[in-house]
Amino acid sequence: MLVKSTEFFKNLPPKKCAECGNNIDEQHECYGNKCDNCNQIK
Ligand SMILES: [Zn+2]
Repeated sequence: MLVKSTEFFKNLPPKKCAECGNNIDEQHECYGNKCDNCNQIK
């Protein structure tokens, strides 16, 4: 059975910040495992 790419991405677990647990925008992968807020603090 074919799975649409959109369905595939929906099934991926959201990336979460290691500091506060907020979901991380996938555009910010280069920052590691922390969200914008936590990256600004440190
Ligand atoms: Zn955070």
